[in-house]
Amino acid sequence: MRGLMQDWPLLCHRIIEHAAEVHGTQEVVTRSVEGPIHRTNYRQIRDRALKVSQRLDRDGIKLGDRVATIAWNTWRHLEAWYGIMGIGAICHTVNPRLFPDQIAWIINHAEDRVVMTDLTFIPILEKIADKLPSVERYIVFTDKAHMPQTTLKNAMAYEDWIAEADGDFKWKTFDENTAAAMCYTSGTTGDPKGVLYSHRSNVLHALMANSGDSLGANAADTMLPVVPLFHANSWGIAFSAPSMGTKLVFPGAKLDGASVYELLDTEKVTHTAGVPTVWLMLLNHMAASSLKLPHLRMVVCGGSAMPRSMIKSFLDLGVAVRHAWGMTEMSPIGTLAALKPPFAELKGEALLDILQTQGYPPFGVQMKITDDSGKDLPWDGKTFGRLKVSGPAVSKAYFRVDADILDEAGYFDTGDVATIDADGYMRITDRSKDVIKSGGEWISSIDLENLAVGHPAVAEAAVIGVYHPKWDERPLLIIQLKQGQSATREDILKFMDGKIAKWWMPDDVAFVDGIPHTATGKILKTALRDQFKSYRFPNAAA
Ligand code: ADP
Repeated sequence: MRGLMQDWPLLCHRIIEHAAEVHGTQEVVTRSVEGPIHRTNYRQIRDRALKVSQRLDRDGIKLGDRVATIAWNTWRHLEAWYGIMGIGAICHTVNPRLFPDQIAWIINHAEDRVVMTDLTFIPILEKIADKLPSVERYIVFTDKAHMPQTTLKNAMAYEDWIAEADGDFKWKTFDENTAAAMCYTSGTTGDPKGVLYSHRSNVLHALMANSGDSLGANAADTMLPVVPLFHANSWGIAFSAPSMGTKLVFPGAKLDGASVYELLDTEKVTHTAGVPTVWLMLLNHMAASSLKLPHLRMVVCGGSAMPRSMIKSFLDLGVAVRHAWGMTEMSPIGTLAALKPPFAELKGEALLDILQTQGYPPFGVQMKITDDSGKDLPWDGKTFGRLKVSGPAVSKAYFRVDADILDEAGYFDTGDVATIDADGYMRITDRSKDVIKSGGEWISSIDLENLAVGHPAVAEAAVIGVYHPKWDERPLLIIQLKQGQSATREDILKFMDGKIAKWWMPDDVAFVDGIPHTATGKILKTALRDQFKSYRFPNAAA
């Protein structure tokens, strides 16, 4: 027997429609790419998103066609998201920090028909445009006054383009499993892989993100996503904030500590989300002038492990932290370190211990750890295993890749190595390809990096496994010092000594001027391995 409830497909544009109806005057504030602060609200965003839909429809963009955006977090970009999805086209967010050749590869693989972009990225696109045969036109997120001369095909300023639509248009309806958006994973090895979200997965993911124990914001709160709309589905914030009526503040092109601080302060932001690199810049800026953020209540931090010293700095400022783990393939929320009973009562180091875990999954994400043969491992907080996940917002395949990516039980292997404790708190030990295999035992490169960045002179730390004739691999600690600070190999090792097992201690420390990063701000270990490929430990007999 079937239930007698309404057939109400979970479509993304229902979210902006709800925001316009119920939270219509709630603000969306942007530091515009052109410079000034721009203010709009959910009703206007919905109205203009409908014009995007109408205009795309008039240009012949159909269900399933791909429309790319290469753009900063702005109100126009948000309108474009809903406008593209609202006719069943696929909003393909492209990361502008990738190399131009990778951008071209991704646009060609997706066969994007339209590219919508910011003034900032016109020069990059002009360089690769003749290698993009599928692209019929470019829309630049600006107005006539700021529109430059460009060689981009059929280029038009966004404001002129939507002015040609009167907004008398209805969202299209279709099956909730229709593709809504796509995002390619960075692909530090091999070609990038296209993750294809559906309307249903995005709506369910927004509901998962809405709990107080997830992103933690409500209708009375203000969220500033530093995480870009082009990175991993904006961590779901582009759906979750309007679905709750949370005020949004978009930082545009300026993500440095001073600019982010200014917006957090002037817009009385209560919640913000981004990667550790961004928080490092913010904390440095605040420390230099003893600044405070009295309205800020929560910093959501994910994408890479949040160092303990960073958690402590925010707590000392009176700001709660929510360490989160996830990945593009998971829409992306996997786990969040909220404090459930009895952990909320903890203080001091014991509190930091819990906050530093990657947390537990919201309803809608199931996880397990297994050994290499696929056998389930215990949730004892000690045993490491391959972390595998399943859920309605987890990928089952990549776009145009004919390969099964799930195990027999339907779980996706995240490529991360983790422990899970009896309370469901997960701790990432490493990426499976980065873990250091020393004499048959595993050493977590992330644990060593987190410890090393706690040294006051260290700006950033990376650990790689280097060949050792006796142990196979041993850890090499690579350090970038803070500007104007000094520390020796011995200082760093002494600082770490006693805080980890003796056999985890790095065999050597190398100092570098800069640590390379991926386009999403993660340490680029492949480049470091390359840089240190002929390095040999002084203590290793040849
Ligand atoms: P990209 O590789 O494009 O940056 P993802 O955002 O999908 O894309 O990267 C996901 C990976 O980032 C995870 O599999 C994990 O290795 C790492 N990661 C994400 N959050 C954390 C975290 N809180 N701690 C440690 N690693 C994390």
